[in-house]
Amino acid sequence: MTRVVVVGAGPAGIAAADVLSRAAVEVTLIDEAERPGGQYHRAPASGLQLDMRRLLDAAHASYAAFHAQAASVCARVDYRPATLVWGVHGRAVHLAARGFAQSVGYDALVLATGATDRVMPLPGWTLPGVFTLGGAQAVLKDQGCLIGRRVVFCGSSPLLYLAAVQYLRAGGKVAAVIDTTRFAEKLRALPDMLAAPGVLGQGLRHMAALKRRGVPILHGATIDAFEGKARVSAVRCTSPDSAPLRVACDAVAYGHGLRPETQLAELAGCTLRFDPVQRVHVPETDPDGRAGHAIYVAGDGGSIGGGQAAAVSGRLAAAAALHDLGLAADVDVAASRASLARLRRFQKGVAAAFRWPGERAAALDDAVILCRCENVTVGEVRAAIALQDGVADVNRAKAATRCGMGRCQGRFCGAGLAEVAAACVGGHDHGRDRLRVQTPIKPLPMALAGDLSP
Ligand SMILES: Cc1cc2nc3c(=O)[nH]c(=O)nc-3n(C[C@H](O)[C@H](O)[C@H](O)COP(=O)(O)OP(=O)(O)OC[C@H]3O[C@@H](n4cnc5c(N)ncnc54)[C@H](O)[C@@H]3O)c2cc1C
Repeated sequence: MTRVVVVGAGPAGIAAADVLSRAAVEVTLIDEAERPGGQYHRAPASGLQLDMRRLLDAAHASYAAFHAQAASVCARVDYRPATLVWGVHGRAVHLAARGFAQSVGYDALVLATGATDRVMPLPGWTLPGVFTLGGAQAVLKDQGCLIGRRVVFCGSSPLLYLAAVQYLRAGGKVAAVIDTTRFAEKLRALPDMLAAPGVLGQGLRHMAALKRRGVPILHGATIDAFEGKARVSAVRCTSPDSAPLRVACDAVAYGHGLRPETQLAELAGCTLRFDPVQRVHVPETDPDGRAGHAIYVAGDGGSIGGGQAAAVSGRLAAAAALHDLGLAADVDVAASRASLARLRRFQKGVAAAFRWPGERAAALDDAVILCRCENVTVGEVRAAIALQDGVADVNRAKAATRCGMGRCQGRFCGAGLAEVAAACVGGHDHGRDRLRVQTPIKPLPMALAGDLSP
């Protein structure tokens, strides 16, 4: 029988698997997480009684609806939780799960692999107590833990406000929200953000809730450093409206939006292109997610778009796969395309309102750690680029310095590396080079003495 493999059980993957499971195909749904949900609908660890209704407030209804749908989908398909797809070759995905390895062939592959946090390296960003914004939110949703007692949320992302509000709801203290984008930039992006007034309204309510609780919010600030000895104790920043500030804290949640997880698409032979608005590389697709080579890309892994856009694009990708296999899909394609276009317009506004501060790479001190896995500094990368005769080739810089060669395989330092390299040869507008993917895309367990069976 025809087999469609879906990677990712977040909003995009579950929506795709739902559509596919109603057609005459075998569906294998794989996710490295223990439970469906992805990032947006992340559920608490099993056995943990977390009050998700209180934590999510108005968003709880969509969380509950998603998990009801996911339970039904996972019961209808070949669902493989806690399973990492570490490679794609020759129309098969390669898996590793709890002590065994396997390859699964496919006739069509839907990649719904989501995104990870994007960070600009700064002095002190590797201090204990400094978390990525998404990481800070993940420990709260997954484990019910706060990263500290007095937390600063900083960077540029709508998630700053959402995560800060969730920390307050969970009983945490928010020392400040330090947003590096100016309020005027947000106002300028308003026409695009009005494409999804409901989502915009939620964001505004989060800002208002923080103000009501007396949380200081700085717009257009420059974060100069995270300070501390054994762990972070303050954020030093400069705001256009005040003298330089030190905000005392015992933890920091830091991020500048998201970057799509494109490794599997690249391994499968898809072309990646640079998106100048979001300043990330994305797989080249048609409006329904066709990326060539029987690959379909949905959700944040194709274009950062949020949970609603992920679900719509998952349905469209599934419909495209079924259409190409000569099968019908129960999807209103025209309405879904219109809805996705509207949500993507909203995200274009969000990307402009919460800008990635790539130009800051030029001002970073040589001593700042760029690659935290391999402990490579900005200065070492600059020295490597200086030997490249005016070319900012990040893959050569990686070979020379080991930047991006560690455990995260450049997923966290890659964006900063591209900007530092670009700044060496003429500026931010050149920050378009990217690290090439390597197999396995994430670390794999190894058996030294033969037997890998469970
Ligand atoms: C850390 C983080 C927190 C976020 N929090 C929120 C929030 O609170 N509210 C909000 O509106 N938006 C949030 N977002 C944005 C939100 O994630 C998305 O817009 C939405 O979840 C995207 O859905 P998706 O299905 O495309 O991807 P995701 O929800 O990210 O799901 C992708 C899934 O693919 C799996 N996966 C990826 N690679 C592999 C692989 N190689 N092998 C096996 N499985 C794999 C992952 O485990 C994951 O479950 C967050 C994003 C991040 C990165």
